[in-house]
Amino acid sequence: MNTPHVVASLSLVAFSISAFAGNDAHEHGRARLSLVQDDKGIAVTFESPLDNLTGFEHAPRTQAQRHALAEARAALQDAARVVVLPDAAGCALVAVEVALPFDAAAHAAQAEHADHAEHADALAEYTFTCDRPSAVTQVSVGLFRAFARLRHIDAEAATAAGQGKALLSATQATWKLPESR
Ligand SMILES: [Zn+2]
Repeated sequence: MNTPHVVASLSLVAFSISAFAGNDAHEHGRARLSLVQDDKGIAVTFESPLDNLTGFEHAPRTQAQRHALAEARAALQDAARVVVLPDAAGCALVAVEVALPFDAAAHAAQAEHADHAEHADALAEYTFTCDRPSAVTQVSVGLFRAFARLRHIDAEAATAAGQGKALLSATQATWKLPESR
């Protein structure tokens, strides 16, 4: 009866990192990636202006825009296009949650309200359980390949070894995490 407990503790982690990810300024070309490692696994949160993913930040008006939104959702749902963890860690994806504004699935009233705002953000959360979480010493970030408008990611990690920050880009897409001493 171990598994329900594992999932519950990682959900709390995901909740707490999404709470702190909400503060920073919305800047096109830039996004945020947060990673929390505990003794059960890894939780990763990606937060980005929608413009980085689709090229617009309003309710889709054309078929091309609806298509771009669906493509962005599909890319974010595919965790392997977002982050790749070292094989040695033995990680398994247990949950993906993608929240895109103006999604077809979103409530119509919500989409209409949001259309009056000047900016819109997307959020995606990934939860992995790992046989050896401490073996996740680096993360290969695929977001720059998936989203050409994305230029920089401010990455923040909290692991057993400490806290770490990194500025990632298409040419620096391997994120080295703080290592155990
Ligand atoms: Zn914006």
